[in-house]
Amino acid sequence: MHQKIYTQVVVIGSGPSGYSAAFRCADLGLDVLLIEKYNTLGGVCLNVGCIPSKSLLHIAKVIQEARELHSTGVSFSEPVIDIKKIRFWKESVIKKLTDGLDYMRKKRNIRIIKGRAIFDSDRSLLVEEKENKFHVFFKNAIIATGSQPIKIPSLSYNDERIWDSTDALLLKKIPSRFLIVGSGIIGLEMATIYSALGSKVDIIDRFKDFLPAVDQDIADVYIKSINERFNLMLNTHLDKIKETKNGLIVKMIENNLNKEEISYDAILIAIGRTPSINELGLEKIGLKINNFGFIQVDKQLKTNIPHIYAVGDVTGPPMLAHKGTHEAHIAAEVISGKNHFFEPTVIPSIAYTEPEIAWVGLNEKEAKKENIDYEVASFPWSASGRAIASNCSLGMTKLIFNKSNNKIIGGAIVGTNAGELIGEVSLGIEMGCDAEDLALTIHAHPTLYESIGLSAEVFKGTITDLL
Ligand code: FAD
Repeated sequence: MHQKIYTQVVVIGSGPSGYSAAFRCADLGLDVLLIEKYNTLGGVCLNVGCIPSKSLLHIAKVIQEARELHSTGVSFSEPVIDIKKIRFWKESVIKKLTDGLDYMRKKRNIRIIKGRAIFDSDRSLLVEEKENKFHVFFKNAIIATGSQPIKIPSLSYNDERIWDSTDALLLKKIPSRFLIVGSGIIGLEMATIYSALGSKVDIIDRFKDFLPAVDQDIADVYIKSINERFNLMLNTHLDKIKETKNGLIVKMIENNLNKEEISYDAILIAIGRTPSINELGLEKIGLKINNFGFIQVDKQLKTNIPHIYAVGDVTGPPMLAHKGTHEAHIAAEVISGKNHFFEPTVIPSIAYTEPEIAWVGLNEKEAKKENIDYEVASFPWSASGRAIASNCSLGMTKLIFNKSNNKIIGGAIVGTNAGELIGEVSLGIEMGCDAEDLALTIHAHPTLYESIGLSAEVFKGTITDLL
């Protein structure tokens, strides 16, 4: 027997998109029910994504900085890695945040059911929570069920040595020889973590261009910085994996040629993510999926069924927490009667590697494609006093300006803390700043973000000679 529940808004999924939608709806006075199949709130981001990866990346950064300090006259011995304690610390970071979310949910009187939701009709859902069964009737629904790693169908995921990103973040062991398949953001972040903790890491990608979202000059600075910490092999793909007791014997093909077999202790498959929408019963209610397999939405995040909304990873790339959060706020505001739209000028992306790579707006390839008459202004960190003093002078700040009006249309930064620095570039583009605005804004000295003002001066021609 199903218990009947009525609500103004039901939100399915409690990741950054789901909890942001639920919180904003409640703050706007709507009655909200949140459904989450996982034990804790926070979705992929808090439990098995952004937050655990960043806590491990913090450790990797400190280890790497300590190793690199020897050139300044200070040497440390090799770090002692207590994997159990690291795991405990990472879990405590997650717990602090997921507990905080639950506290904020309770303060807003948002009801919750812990179970998997399936559409029964376009006005109702079925959910099972342990032995309890619910029939939820709603006026509006927001689908925020996120995404999951893409699997290679021919691989045996029963073998505990074949990992996805969730397995890698469990930090069960530090494999001596570790292969990462896929050099996207997640693959690179895991390579940064595991190489710092002591694994010998190979990372392969079937494409010949590294991180195609950034221009080659930015990619080149990063590739130079890897400096044998791990081995990046582009234009290389998996051919066969033989599972033996002593290791996973991998045959790879590089530039169409067979490579020698290599034995690994673990393999991470990080080839992208796919939306989690297959078990929602969407076909039953006729909800439209676009050609790329994501839920089709308009600028108010409405699906083809106007009282059902979708936000976050399920609506397509960029599959990033901050994109989902902003979509969620718009969906909630539209439901509450506001005529708002999701139309950001730009959404920043960051690889939290060491050094970090961050980009926003157009790159050169995209500016060319859009027939924009653009000019690039770059500032190498070898000319930055702060970067040299901080032992991180391998870096670059690159801005792209539209020559017709001198407005900034894109930027990329590779270097320590690039992810924080890109904020000024995002704001500049969103606010329609031109080179003068950036160059005349007084940047504190010596800082890394000075490189943004200085790049604008390069564009204006007030700075010409750089190292
Ligand atoms: P999710 O976070 O995936 O949440 C969806 C929730 O829905 C889950 O809790 C799931 O259990 C629940 N759910 C699914 N189906 C049902 C159902 N039928 N019934 C009930 N509940 C259901 N992004 C960044 O912006 N910055 C980063 O640094 C970053 N790092 C990442 C690192 C890793 C290793 C990974 C894997 C991802 C990372 N991401 C990062 C991406 C980010 O995690 C996602 O973009 C973000 O979590 C998407 O949020 P979401 O709310 O749309 O979905």
